[in-house]
Amino acid sequence: GRRKLIAGNWKMNGLKAQLGEVSAIGELAAGRPDIDVALFLPATLISAAAPLAGTVLVGGQDCHQEEAGAFTGCISAPMLLGAGAGGTLVGHSERRTYQHETNADVAAKAARASQHGLEVVLCVGETLDTREQGDEAAHGWVVDQLLASLPEGAGSGWLTIAYEPVWAIGTGKVATPAQIAAMHGALRDALVEALGADGQAMRILYGGSVSGDNAADILHLDNVDGALVGGASLSAAKFAPIIAAA
Ligand code: 13P
Repeated sequence: GRRKLIAGNWKMNGLKAQLGEVSAIGELAAGRPDIDVALFLPATLISAAAPLAGTVLVGGQDCHQEEAGAFTGCISAPMLLGAGAGGTLVGHSERRTYQHETNADVAAKAARASQHGLEVVLCVGETLDTREQGDEAAHGWVVDQLLASLPEGAGSGWLTIAYEPVWAIGTGKVATPAQIAAMHGALRDALVEALGADGQAMRILYGGSVSGDNAADILHLDNVDGALVGGASLSAAKFAPIIAAA
């Protein structure tokens, strides 16, 4: 079976004063050796957080597709690794929207990260406009986005997919269990078609307004192999019930 992964994405939140939360989440993870826990932190916190995190995988939130060069403000895979990261997010909807990242960019970023031994969580998800065209349209749109974002050499040993409907991110509007199960089923079918047996082994996380109140209902659905949590990962107190529900 697939090992569950509960991952937090701090987005553009967190100063040194919040490093105590990383230690506390490390302690939560120590109590759950049967699952994986990850924290995708602002790059400025990675080197300080990594030694405090215990078994928690500390990662970045983006990784540039080039090794190095004239890309002011960007962060490379070797930089993440050197800071103590073990992984990175790629293709988060906020980066697709605000940094105009394309599917091809996302695939290149994932491939570069993996070349340096980083684990990758690749995010996909539809906007409200697409969802309002109906479930079938939404499934087709997200499957196409996944296949176009999938890197060369994609493998379950290093790559995890996160389904995050844009309309459910930070809105408190969680997708229904039926919507989540149907989308994850469609993504599973697409992964198996693209990757064969390894597509069966690849984890698919759900993200979008996951909280202690809804985590149990979501995490027990077929083809839901964990969660990618924004707001509720910023404190150990809010993250704890989600880890407990896995
Ligand atoms: P929220 O859990 O705050 O809705 O954020 C989800 C998300 O975008 C995680 O990457």
